[in-house]
Amino acid sequence: MVPSPSTYRGRLAPSPTGLLHLGHARTFWIAAERARRAGGKLFLRNDDLDAIRFRLDFVAAMLEDLRWLGFVWEEPMVSQSEHRALYRAALEKLHASGLIYPCTRSRRDVIEAAGAPHEGGANDEPVYPPQFRPPAGAPLPPLGEKITVNWRIRVPDGETLAFNDGGLGPQQAVAGRDFGDFLVWRKDDVPSYQLACVVDDAAMDITEVVRGADLVKSTFRQLLLFRALGHATPEFHHCPLMLDDRGERLAKRHDALSLRAMRESGLTPAEIIRGFAHS
Ligand code: GLU
Repeated sequence: MVPSPSTYRGRLAPSPTGLLHLGHARTFWIAAERARRAGGKLFLRNDDLDAIRFRLDFVAAMLEDLRWLGFVWEEPMVSQSEHRALYRAALEKLHASGLIYPCTRSRRDVIEAAGAPHEGGANDEPVYPPQFRPPAGAPLPPLGEKITVNWRIRVPDGETLAFNDGGLGPQQAVAGRDFGDFLVWRKDDVPSYQLACVVDDAAMDITEVVRGADLVKSTFRQLLLFRALGHATPEFHHCPLMLDDRGERLAKRHDALSLRAMRESGLTPAEIIRGFAHS
């Protein structure tokens, strides 16, 4: 009997805002292994919406580093900057459903009103103060063609969101307590990461999202967006973050652990990947 083709579809989704480092490589290696073992497809998505930090030379470096390590993906690469129309359509859908509202509060207003940092700490944004919300059912202003104000989605306070993570096991969070109303579109007319990511994972029919554990909190937000937009939810597999010798997570500032620097120091892809297989 001919085996039926696998329906597994995974993706690597780097942001071209710096050089890829060892931590990215390990997460991507896990993603690629999971796609390979499932006999599925792996896509490369270039998360290039951050116009301030995005640099074209980082896109080229990212492609070169990924190829050097031996990653193979379905061509062509998908770039988020080409998907604006899809994101805008999703925003309009959220607007029509009355789930979002314009927010003119500054980051500072939010931090001051939110008070003590909640669990999730400095790595996550404070819970948006509910007193800043417009009253439920208040008429919504139109979106307008060019967006000049932040738009947030109202989260269902008190609802527990749960998923079974392929790497970390059962996860849950309570909306309005562990995270609050979050941005779907920014006042500089750019979709938020949360919105763009959900729209693309749905449009690309991704069946499993493999990414770093720093994005677990984002996953709860994204579950709400999948639901609000009427999309099926993929599986999630978050990978533990790689720490440096001081116990801090690797960041783009760790230049010595960039794949570029490791290659220049004479390390081979096989040596790097052997380390992942044993980690
Ligand atoms: N581009 C995002 C990042 O580098 C990851 C997005 C994702 O995997 O969902 O943090």
